[in-house]
Amino acid sequence: MLKLVVLGSSAAVPSTERGLSAIGLRYEGDVYLFDCGEGTQRQMMKYGLSFFKVKAIFITHTHADHIVGVAGLAQTLDLSGRTEPLPIFCPAGQERDIEALLSISKYSYQIEVRGIGEGEILKGKGFSVSAFPVAHSRPSLGYVFETGPRRNFDEEKCEKLGIKGKMFGELEEKGEAVVKGKKIRYQDVTTEKPGIKVAYTGDCAPGESTVLAAKGADLLIHEATYGSDHEKEAFENKHSTAAQAAAIAKKAGVKRLLLTHISGRYKETAQLEKEAREIFPDSDAAEDGAEALLK
Ligand SMILES: [Zn+2]
Ligand SMILES: [Zn+2]
Repeated sequence: MLKLVVLGSSAAVPSTERGLSAIGLRYEGDVYLFDCGEGTQRQMMKYGLSFFKVKAIFITHTHADHIVGVAGLAQTLDLSGRTEPLPIFCPAGQERDIEALLSISKYSYQIEVRGIGEGEILKGKGFSVSAFPVAHSRPSLGYVFETGPRRNFDEEKCEKLGIKGKMFGELEEKGEAVVKGKKIRYQDVTTEKPGIKVAYTGDCAPGESTVLAAKGADLLIHEATYGSDHEKEAFENKHSTAAQAAAIAKKAGVKRLLLTHISGRYKETAQLEKEAREIFPDSDAAEDGAEALLK
């Protein structure tokens, strides 16, 4: 199961209701952060994501509203005695911005700031993370977190055949087991479940690279700094409107769209949701603390 928590959903400046950009993703007990705006560590405490479990941080671009939280979080991890290295990924060429933030402290563990380009950047047990280019006022990357297809035991079948205890492990490891004198194959008592795919754009103008990267995703988290009333500003500042994000979601054939990076001028998000839902009905505006469970 994959759990996603919106830690910060505001554009540029925080408000009492919204923190700066950060998305927490928990998978198999580990936590991955996508952007780390100011105050992210406190948002993690508030919304129940352990920062001791942070395995990696993925930065979309080094505008201040997406990175300042790295310094505080890194120091807290030091004070808590972390020894495990912490990789921080960011677009190649922007490493020094993050290193400058980190240079104000010393750490008991290693922090590796890794400049990356598009493509697969991390492969873990049962999942991978890849980056894709997006158009913004500085070079920026979106990220896709994807788990591979899994096989689950068909409980009813297993019970009928008398499979229990250690037999499950044997079936998984060897692909077959002898149950009550009969050879049972792993394939015959399991069903395949497709993997889970989540895409996050960070700041961006609407673009085809997002459509490609997010194809068929269970969830697309797309920035929607503006509503249609500020389409001109969105274009000039290389951001997106809610309607533009919805058009991308529709084109990519995703299951759900979550709008984030919302400008402080929208105290109520009903307008943004309405504009998006006219194009892509399964659209919601993010709130800090909102969760999505993907199985
Ligand atoms: Zn931003
Ligand atoms: Zn930006």
